[in-house]
Amino acid sequence: MAKDERMEKVVNLLERRGFLFASGQIYGTMAGFFDFGNYGTLLKRKIEQNWWNFFVDTRHEVVGIDGSIVSSSAIWNASGHLAEFSDPLIECKKCRAKFRADSLIEDELKISVEGKSLDNINKLIIENKLVCQNCKGELEIASSFNLMFKTQVGASEDESSIAYLRPETAQMIFINFKQVQMSSRKKLPFGIAQIGKAFRNEISPRNFVFRCREFSQMEMEFFVHPEKLDECQISENELDLEINALTEKMQESKENERKTTFASLLNGKSIGTKWHAYWIIKAYEWFLGLGIKKENLRIRQHVKTELSHYSSETWDLEYNYPWGWKELSGIANRGDFDLKQHMLGSKKDLTYFDDETKAKVLPVVIEPSFGLERALLTVIIDAFEEKLDGEEKKTILHLNSSVAPIEVAIFPLMKKDGLAQKALEIFGMLRKNMACEYDEAGSIGRRYARQDEIGTPYCLTIDYDTLKDETITIRERDSTLQKRIKINECVEIIGNLLKGGKF
Ligand code: ATP
Repeated sequence: MAKDERMEKVVNLLERRGFLFASGQIYGTMAGFFDFGNYGTLLKRKIEQNWWNFFVDTRHEVVGIDGSIVSSSAIWNASGHLAEFSDPLIECKKCRAKFRADSLIEDELKISVEGKSLDNINKLIIENKLVCQNCKGELEIASSFNLMFKTQVGASEDESSIAYLRPETAQMIFINFKQVQMSSRKKLPFGIAQIGKAFRNEISPRNFVFRCREFSQMEMEFFVHPEKLDECQISENELDLEINALTEKMQESKENERKTTFASLLNGKSIGTKWHAYWIIKAYEWFLGLGIKKENLRIRQHVKTELSHYSSETWDLEYNYPWGWKELSGIANRGDFDLKQHMLGSKKDLTYFDDETKAKVLPVVIEPSFGLERALLTVIIDAFEEKLDGEEKKTILHLNSSVAPIEVAIFPLMKKDGLAQKALEIFGMLRKNMACEYDEAGSIGRRYARQDEIGTPYCLTIDYDTLKDETITIRERDSTLQKRIKINECVEIIGNLLKGGKF
């Protein structure tokens, strides 16, 4: 299947089965905004819960917060977002269509301009005589376009009423660092995590929810003593974990990614510090745990010119999307940039008092940052399969049980003779323990197909034998194998299967 065709099919499935779709369809949509339907909401919640469990609940050194979405310009001034958080915008002289200049170059010249300055971008456009993708008209000179959504708070319209929707959740963690540290009594190293909405007025939202204007981030800021960035325990197994990696040096010498280990990336000083390596490993493990295939993931180091204004070292965890390798998640060393900036901006002391050295320090921050919608789309793309069953094309989502919106579907063979009643009884019992769906419409084959499409790992059929011997048929999605199990054992059996047990 061609890569573009695959993406088209994924989007078609997500819309058709009501996972998610462009927002406001009955009025005409606005690009970059999406609404989630039933299965999409369930899937999103599962990914979110999975992340929170992995990065917060199971770690004694991480606490959570939930910050506000609208905030004053003072915060974004200090963080550097008002001055720096922009993309290159280019406009057509003829039809006035607007494009992201770096995407235009990447589309037309098939080269990456990641990290190139505005001057260099303009030079490339002029030298290669690039024209409007819409009407072939001549283009203006590209300029910087700030991605933040501006709003006004209160009734007065003066400067002080200007506020912004947050373009990243991270700043709410930085501005609350001292308060959270004191109230939770955490000592360095420790993390503060948050899941919440972020807003970016992207010039050209594209690839469905990969790049949208309203999305959710799952971020953790991990605060480390500036002299203890290598005081971190990484297990031998994790150091020996294999990963496809593309370092800054390899990109300079135009090499492709290579399979390596974290031990070798640390020993070769490609990854600067142990705590940074640790969180890259955790991000990688988390995605593997969601069922994403190893061969579709790689880590790529940002080259110097590409680093965000706050970062001294960043590694992107990239996925091999139908449109090429792109960022799925980013793990940055933000240094003490943000805390320092907020100390200057607020004139408040955000230092940490180190009991051991009896000195005040500004912690260094390692930030693993994830986009919820991007993770969701990636999970779906990775799990998607279309295959021929006789003459008919069938879609199967090979979703990991930990994220499947529906874990078990329950079907009566027939509606009559008390079968539906028995099936509803079993449905009522199971739904207390797992995400279930009841379906009595159409042939059993059609019902299996409907569940395969939304990634349900197990289906149960209630038939005439059930009424005699209290057994039901369980069918596994990926192998399509079936066997009979006792009703009074099914909660335990299915519970084990959902945790990864063998069928
Ligand atoms: P990109 O290079 O793709 O624009 P970014 O480097 O600006 O991403 P970050 O600022 O590092 O992204 O944001 C952290 C994470 O938030 C990203 O890894 C991605 O998963 C998600 N994200 C960022 N921008 C968007 C967007 N417009 N739509 C959906 N998710 C996004």
